[in-house]
Amino acid sequence: MHSEIEKVLISEEEIQEKCKEMGAHLTEEYKDRFPLAVGVLKGATPFMADLLKRVEIHLEMDFMDVSSYHGGTRSSGEVKIVKDLDTKVEGRDILIIEDIIDSGLTLSYLVDLFKYRQANSIKVVTLLDKPAGRTAYIKADTIGFEIPDEFVVGYGLDYQEKYRNLPYIGILKPEVYGG
Ligand code: 5GP
Ligand code: MG
Ligand code: MG
Repeated sequence: MHSEIEKVLISEEEIQEKCKEMGAHLTEEYKDRFPLAVGVLKGATPFMADLLKRVEIHLEMDFMDVSSYHGGTRSSGEVKIVKDLDTKVEGRDILIIEDIIDSGLTLSYLVDLFKYRQANSIKVVTLLDKPAGRTAYIKADTIGFEIPDEFVVGYGLDYQEKYRNLPYIGILKPEVYGG
């Protein structure tokens, strides 16, 4: 599997260090509150697990699955709910946890949805930000790493459902897309 990676963009150590930093920041930001952390399936799960271990307050976790990608490397521009939350959003402090913001369509859809459901507050934390891909106006409140406009895999991010279990973020060799 590692032989299919052209280059490691962000190492396991860098990711873990960043989770510690961001976790401390969130601990401060949400002290005396009980936020609902919403992980966006499936990509955000490794990040969500590592990040929230570093947040030293009580919180609740839930998951949503929305899709706009359909297996390719570019967004189709259409967002739909594949799995909704089990938790009521009204009056809650929502912390959306994402793997990456590219076009921003997924997040702007979620932010609008949680506003409509009358969240008390909505914050977005993303591991990666790809500002070059943006078509919808959306900004994360906390960003781990800004990356160039390249398709990345690993640490939750897939290509055709593979590579999510890599402990780092990398770029695939071009020949992998050929087959
Ligand atoms: P957006 O709606 O912001 O365009 O994209 C959101 C979703 O697209 C991400 O949560 C992720 O699943 C997928 N995505 C965007 N850029 C990349 C990338 O570089 N690599 C992978 N594997 N997925 C991406
Ligand atoms: Mg995602
Ligand atoms: Mg994907």
